[in-house]
Amino acid sequence: MTKKEMFKMLHDEEPVLRAEITALYSVLDHKLGLHGAEVPITFGMDEKALGSYLPPSYDDEEQFQFSLFFIGFCLNEQLSKSDRINLYKHEYAHYMTRHISIPSEYTWQPGVHGSAWKYCCSLIGAIPADYYVEGQSLKKVDYDSVLKRPTVDHKQVQMLDTYRTQRAYKNMENSKIRYEVGDVVSHPKFGEGTVKEIEKQPSSVRLHIAFGDEVKIIDQKWLVKTGYKKVSET
Ligand SMILES: [Zn+2]
Repeated sequence: MTKKEMFKMLHDEEPVLRAEITALYSVLDHKLGLHGAEVPITFGMDEKALGSYLPPSYDDEEQFQFSLFFIGFCLNEQLSKSDRINLYKHEYAHYMTRHISIPSEYTWQPGVHGSAWKYCCSLIGAIPADYYVEGQSLKKVDYDSVLKRPTVDHKQVQMLDTYRTQRAYKNMENSKIRYEVGDVVSHPKFGEGTVKEIEKQPSSVRLHIAFGDEVKIIDQKWLVKTGYKKVSET
């Protein structure tokens, strides 16, 4: 089958998929008093995103977009029915965040996939995850634990402090110069190189290393970690 023939087959499936989505959205609309089933649905050939909800903007009305590459029947890799339904619900939950009022206790986490969106997911039984995991929709979700604002307790404050302290320590370590001008280092790809210049930064050290005629600037931290070794030490 040529690519053109495949595209045609996929496009021929649009009415069936549109009916599947509209039927689901009508049920959800009925339950919530919304009009998601009236929002235009467009299909594309996106290979990176399964679907998306585009809110109304200056030059475009709101719409749902789905990728035929993932939901088309004529492909072997088509999503299972339950994963497809979850995808539709995922996008519908995005639509909901624009059209229902979110109780204030569910506004603590920002972001398109934040607590407001997760709250909408909980109302319609969508998986509150922003990525796709095959078969994930079959798992039971504990919405309560997903929706609850984490309480800031003493232990957590302490952990944050520890984190800050650790980072300060790491920065200090990273800015310690471990090489000297003239040191010969070996690199798996570029071969042997000579340190020509050392630049000390607040939280790092940058080395200018000559590999033949070419000088590369490399962060010492990376160099230490990935086995650039001083030749004398190997
Ligand atoms: Zn999303």
